[in-house]
Amino acid sequence: MIRRPPRSTPKPSSAASDVYKRQTFEEVLLKGLADDGGLYIPTEWPEADISKLKECNSFIDIAKLIVPLFTESSYKKEEVVTLLENTWHDFEKSDLVGIKKINEDIFIGELFHGPTAAFKDFGLQLCAAFFNKALEKNNQTAIILGATSGDTGSAAIDACKEYKNIKTFMLLPEGNMTDIQRKQMTTVNQENVFVLNIKGTFDDCQDIVKSAFKDKSFLKHDQVLLAVNSINWIRIIGQICYYFYLGMQINNFSKELCFSVPTGNFGNVFACYSAMKLGLPVKKIAVAVNENDILHRFFSKNLYKKELVNETLSPSMDITVASNFERLIYDFYLERDAETCKNFFDNFPNSPISLSEDVWKKTYDLFCSSSIGDMETTEIMKKIYQDFNYVVDPHTAVGLCVSKIFGGPISSDLVVLSTAHPGKFLDSLKLAEIPTFEKHHTLSEVLNKDEYSYSLEADQDQVFNFIKRNNH
Ligand SMILES: *Cc1c(COP(=O)(O)O)cnc(C)c1O
Repeated sequence: MIRRPPRSTPKPSSAASDVYKRQTFEEVLLKGLADDGGLYIPTEWPEADISKLKECNSFIDIAKLIVPLFTESSYKKEEVVTLLENTWHDFEKSDLVGIKKINEDIFIGELFHGPTAAFKDFGLQLCAAFFNKALEKNNQTAIILGATSGDTGSAAIDACKEYKNIKTFMLLPEGNMTDIQRKQMTTVNQENVFVLNIKGTFDDCQDIVKSAFKDKSFLKHDQVLLAVNSINWIRIIGQICYYFYLGMQINNFSKELCFSVPTGNFGNVFACYSAMKLGLPVKKIAVAVNENDILHRFFSKNLYKKELVNETLSPSMDITVASNFERLIYDFYLERDAETCKNFFDNFPNSPISLSEDVWKKTYDLFCSSSIGDMETTEIMKKIYQDFNYVVDPHTAVGLCVSKIFGGPISSDLVVLSTAHPGKFLDSLKLAEIPTFEKHHTLSEVLNKDEYSYSLEADQDQVFNFIKRNNH
């Protein structure tokens, strides 16, 4: 078993074992996770053409130069360009991303202007558009089965709901989701969308999803099961685009930027790292986490060890392991030594991961990190409101504890990514004593709509039977 079959055009080579075989873009799209449990990553990093990017005027222009770098093994460039013209929809800003300069050094990259008011619309709308393209081409239909404890579910449902060849079943655990986050899913009320309240934890839900990928007995013969979780490589491609967009808008790639990224599963940070590998001038990446600090423990102490989950004010970052982190270990630290990487992750979480000191030292060339508690989160929300009359959500606030994360003054322009709209987290706004905020175009409607969902035990047979009954 070898992890990480690389993506892109198959190269006939008798020496390559099956799992090392290069996969096409479409294979990676439809498979999600490699057969051995490894994560996909491009065989080699493509190079973005910065001189062409400098001439771009819009987010879509940028996407047209970035996305085709990854898709050529399956689709002609012109096809992808056409797809991209219709991919991102229902954003409240014509250019999708907002940029707010709050002082001399700090820009906020607003990624929450999409229909579900969190940055996940960027990745999941791209994913859904390619799912639809592949299904039409292969004459297939699909079931999407996902588990969500925050914003993935709503973004996936919204991105897929208009595609008639896709049925979405979303498992919601009991727990720390805001009313608005839940209602964004339960109020959709479309024939091809099923929201299942599961009497169990997020891990129970994920286990059911995992066994579904082994079982698949509920599928019809021309049907495929698709994954939308955070290790999905196509989501990362969608996110790489906004890093280039920010670089273009802020200084047209003339100077390195620092990025502060509030993160949980490390997908958004890995997209930033990927953008840098493609050629975006990046000086530092600040990894900002809440009290679920496995990443901060690694970056500050060289110890990647699973602990129990803490419920925080930034629920979309409440994780115990950062599922995309393996990609960074493989590419950045181990310089693509697949065997060593496989050993680490085959034995994880039973054995925590520590790299040899001289390998781990590389961290400071590129990364810094901090863990921010709930108190600090509300304090910074309050302070940003008082100082700049600007309202941020608790996830963004974690990324805005800049002096703590950088441990001193920053030396380049800093972009803090704003991952969600504050209107999703009303209780946190109250705690921070913020009386008012600019409304998001979709959020207030959601509160007054009827909810449609089904309640099931955390039992895979119940879930599979439910899918079977509704799969006609
Ligand atoms: C999902 C999510 C995050 C964490 O994203 P990663 O890709 O795991 O870094 C942060 N903020 C919000 C609002 C989210 O929905």
